[in-house]
Amino acid sequence: MHALIESGLRRPWYRLCLPSALEEQYRVETDRRSGRYAQSWLAVFALFNVLSLALDYDVFGPDAFQVPLALTMGVFCPVVLIAIVSLRGSPTMLRMAGAMLATVLVDIAIALNSARLAPPEHAASYIILAAIVPLLVGLILPLPFRHTVVYCAMSFALYAGLILAFDLAGPGQAGLPLLVSGLILVPLKLGYSREWEAKTVFLLGLRERLQAEALARANAQLTILSETDSLTRLPNRRHFSERLDRMWQVAADEGLWLGVVFVDIDHFKPFNDAVGHHAGDECLVAVAGVLGSTVEAKGGLMARYGGEEFVAYLPGVDLGGAIEAGEAIRAAVMQLALPHPGLQQGAQVTVSVGVTSAHGSSRASGMKVKDLLRAADLALYAAKTEGRNRVAALGTAANSNRAPADGSVASDLP
Ligand code: GH3
Ligand code: MG
Ligand code: MG
Repeated sequence: MHALIESGLRRPWYRLCLPSALEEQYRVETDRRSGRYAQSWLAVFALFNVLSLALDYDVFGPDAFQVPLALTMGVFCPVVLIAIVSLRGSPTMLRMAGAMLATVLVDIAIALNSARLAPPEHAASYIILAAIVPLLVGLILPLPFRHTVVYCAMSFALYAGLILAFDLAGPGQAGLPLLVSGLILVPLKLGYSREWEAKTVFLLGLRERLQAEALARANAQLTILSETDSLTRLPNRRHFSERLDRMWQVAADEGLWLGVVFVDIDHFKPFNDAVGHHAGDECLVAVAGVLGSTVEAKGGLMARYGGEEFVAYLPGVDLGGAIEAGEAIRAAVMQLALPHPGLQQGAQVTVSVGVTSAHGSSRASGMKVKDLLRAADLALYAAKTEGRNRVAALGTAANSNRAPADGSVASDLP
C-alpha cells in the first residue's frame, strides 16, 4: 500500500487515474458529499434567471415578454426546483452532475430561444448569456473530471446545435458563438486540475492515516511488551503493582474483599543445578501456565513477581476464599506432575503458597497495598518453614476475626 501511495504521489500531471486499488478507494470516499453547496448555487442561478426577466422585458416589450416569462417561470424554475430537491442529503456525484446538467441545458435552450426571438441587435446578449450560466456552473460545482467532460460535451452540443438550428450565427458570423463556446475549455481545465489536486490531498491523507495506524499498533504492542514478563508471558511485577493499586481502590469504593496470594516454587535452585538453567526456564513456563489459568478462572490476575516467585490478587475473595484459591493453585501444580531431578527419586515440582485478604473498608483506616503484600509474603514464609508444598494464611488486622479453612496455617499480621 505504501509503495502504491508513493507511486501515486509521483505520478505525472497528465495521469489523472491513480493505481486501481487507490482509485477505487478514492471514488468510494469522494462519491458522496453534502448537497447543500450545490443546492445553494442552483438557488442563486434560479434567482439570476428571474432577475434577468427585467432584461427580457426591456428587449421584448410588454407583449412578446410573455414567452420568456412563461419559459422561465413555467419550465426553468420547476426544473431547478426538482434539481434542488433531488440533492437533499448526501447525493452521489452522478446525481449532482445530472441535476446540474438538466438545469443548464434548459437554461441554454431558453436563452438561445430568446436570441432567436429578440430583435437582431439584442441577439448577441442572449448568445453570450446562454454560455455564461453553464460556464459558471461548471466552474463552481466540484464534479469529478469524467462528469465534467460529459457536462461540458452535452452543454456544448446543445449550444452549438441550437445556434445552427436557429441560424443564430448568420452567414459568415460564426465568430461570436465559437468564441463563447470555446469558454467550455475553462471548466474542463479547472475540473482536471481540481481532481488532480484532490487526489494528491487524498493520497497524503491516506499516507498520514496509515502511518498513524502503524504507530498506534506499535504503541499497543510496546505497551503489551512493557507489561508482560518475556519468559512466562504473565503480567510483570510493575504492571501487577499498578493493577493491584487500582483493585484495592475498587475494593474500598465498592466495599469488597481483596485476596492476595504469593507462590514460590519449592527447591528450585537444586532443579536448576541438576538440569541447567534452560530446563529450569521450561519448568518456570509450565508452572506459570497453570498458575495463570487457575487464578484467571477465579477472576484474579497472576503475575511473575521475580525469579521463581509469583503473586496474584483475587477480587471479592475473603481469607477463606483465598485459602481455597491457594489450595487450588497448589493442587494444579501437583497435577502437572513435573519430575524434580534435583531431589530424591520420584520427587516432583511443588509450590508453597501464602495467602491473605483484607476488606476494602480497612483502606480508610490506613491499610495499604504494601501491608497486604507483606502479609501474603509472611504467610509464604510460614508455608516454607512449615515444610513446603502447602498453603499458609495470614490475616490482616481488619479480618483477624475470620477463621481459615481447616488444615491451613493461619495467623494475624504481627
Ligand atoms: P525454596 O524452596 O526455599 O524456595 O528454595 P529455592 O531453591 O527455590 O529458593 P532459592 O531462592 O534458593 O533459589 C531460587 C532459584 O531460582 C535461584 C535461581 O537460580 C532460580 N531462578 C530465578 N529466576 C530464574 C529464571 O528466570 N530461570 C531459571 N532457570 N532459574 C531462575
Ligand atoms: Mg523457591
Ligand atoms: Mg524464591
